Amino acid sequence: LEPLYSFMIRVRVPGGVATPEQWLVIDELATKYGMPTLKLTTRQAFELHNIYKHDLKQTIKEINASALDSIAACGDVNRNVMNSVNPYTSAIHEDVQQVALRVSEHLTPRTTAYYKIWVNEEQVVGPEEEAPIDEPIYGKTYLPRKFKITFAIPPYNDTDVFAHDIGLIAIEENEKLIGFNIVIGGGMGMTFGDDSTYPRIGNVIGFAPSENIPDICEKIVTVQRDYGNRENRKNSRFKYTIDRLGLDFIRKEINDRLGYELAPARPFEFTTNGDSYGWIKGRNGKWFNTLYIEGGRVKDTDLFQLRKGLRAIAQILEGGDFRLTGNQNVVIGNVSEALKPEVDKLLVQYGIVAHQEVSSLHKHSIACVALNLCPLANSEAERYLPSLINRIHGLLEKNSIGEEPITIRMTGCPNGCGRPYLGEIGFVGRAPGKYNLYLGASFNGDRLNVLYKEALDEAEILQTLDPLIASFAKEKHADEHFGDYVVRKQIVQHIN
Ligand code: SF4
Repeated sequence: LEPLYSFMIRVRVPGGVATPEQWLVIDELATKYGMPTLKLTTRQAFELHNIYKHDLKQTIKEINASALDSIAACGDVNRNVMNSVNPYTSAIHEDVQQVALRVSEHLTPRTTAYYKIWVNEEQVVGPEEEAPIDEPIYGKTYLPRKFKITFAIPPYNDTDVFAHDIGLIAIEENEKLIGFNIVIGGGMGMTFGDDSTYPRIGNVIGFAPSENIPDICEKIVTVQRDYGNRENRKNSRFKYTIDRLGLDFIRKEINDRLGYELAPARPFEFTTNGDSYGWIKGRNGKWFNTLYIEGGRVKDTDLFQLRKGLRAIAQILEGGDFRLTGNQNVVIGNVSEALKPEVDKLLVQYGIVAHQEVSSLHKHSIACVALNLCPLANSEAERYLPSLINRIHGLLEKNSIGEEPITIRMTGCPNGCGRPYLGEIGFVGRAPGKYNLYLGASFNGDRLNVLYKEALDEAEILQTLDPLIASFAKEKHADEHFGDYVVRKQIVQHIN
C-alpha cells in the first residue's frame, strides 16, 4: 500500500491581481481537494495545501481551466512577478502593472512539459509533439536557481523591492510613468552554520525607460544563467554571483549585452514596506479595500468567516478584482460606488470587519507557513506568531505606545520565505519553540536587521524585548521607528 502522499500547489498570480471568477475557482478547489483554507503568500501567489496525490491531476486541470497556472511557481526559472497593489492611489499603477505583466510573459518558460502529466510512463494529459522546445532565454540548462522579480511604486515598498534578484522602482514625472530604477542582487535565504550564505539587500544600478524593461530583465537573467554557481545550490542565487564576481563586472556584463549603458538612477523615496488598510477611492473612481489577513490564511473560525465572506463578495463583485499584497493581505479592488454598500454589508455579516480590529503590530506582521505544513520548518510561525504578537503588544501598551507600528516577521527556518531579515523585529526558527532574534531593519525595507540573540524561547524573547521597548518608548525621537532606534543606540551594529 502506498503512503498517503500530499502536495502543496502554488498558483501564480502575476502582479497579484485575480478576477472574482479565479478567486472562486481557487476557493472551490480548496473545498474539494485540499485543506479548506487558502494561503496568500508573500509573493502574491495562492497556495493550496494538503492536496492528496490522487487529486493532483484534477486539481491542476481545474486551475488551468481558470486561466491561472502554476508554471514557474517553482523551479529554476523566473518566478511569479510581483507588483505593488497600491491600487490606483497612484496615477501610474496601471501602467506599472502592464510592464509587470510584460516581464512575466517574456520570462515564462516556453516548454510544454508543464502541460504534460505522465502516469506509469504513459502521457495522460498534454500536447503530443516531441519536437524540442526552444527556450530562447533559459537555454537547455535553465537557471542555476530560482529567480525573483518585483516592482514597487514609491513611496510604498510593499513588495520589498530590495529583497529580490531584480527590483524595479517606478519613477514618475508629472503623474506619468517614465521608467524604472533597476535594483539587482537582493535575496533573503541563508543556512544556519554556513557563513557563505546570507541575506542581501539589492544594489541600485541605474535607470531605464519602461519599454526597455523586459529586455533588461532578460539580459540580467542571462548573466545569471551564464555565471551563476551550478555546483553548489546553496551559493547559486544571483546575490552570490554578484558578490563573487563583483558588482562592477556584473554591471559591465549587463551593459555589454544590452549594447548601451544604463542611465544613472533617479531619486526616489520609500516610507514603508507595509500595507495601508481600509477603503480608498482610486483615481479611476472605483473603491479599493485592503483587508488584514492574519498570516495570509483565508479561513473560517468561530469568530469570523473570512473564507465564506470573501466567497460571497466574489459572487457579487462584477467588474471588480482581488489583489494579493506582498504582505499576505488582500485588496477587494475596483468596486463600483453602487456595489460598495453591498460589500460593506457582507464584511460585517461575516465578521471580517471585526477581524480588522487588531493592533498595528499585527497589521505589520508576516509569518511563513512553517510547521505543520512545511517540511523544512524547524519551528512554528503562522500558527504561533499572532499569540506572540499579543504578548509583545502588551509590552508596548505597558509603555503607552500600543499603536506603534513595528514590522515583525517570523519564519520557521532561515530560508526566509517571510522575508524575516527585513523585520524591525525578526524571528527565525531554530528548533520547536526556539527562535533567533534579529533587530534593526528599517521600516521602509531598505536595510537588513542583525542577529541579536540566538535560540530564545518565548519567555526569553519577552524578557529581551521588555527593556528595549521601555527605553524606546522613553527615548525615541518624534517619528523614529523601532528599527532605527536600535541602530541609533548601537543596540545592534548596522552592517549593510
Ligand atoms: Fe518553510 Fe522555511 Fe519557507 Fe518557512 S521560511 S515556509 S519554514 S522553507
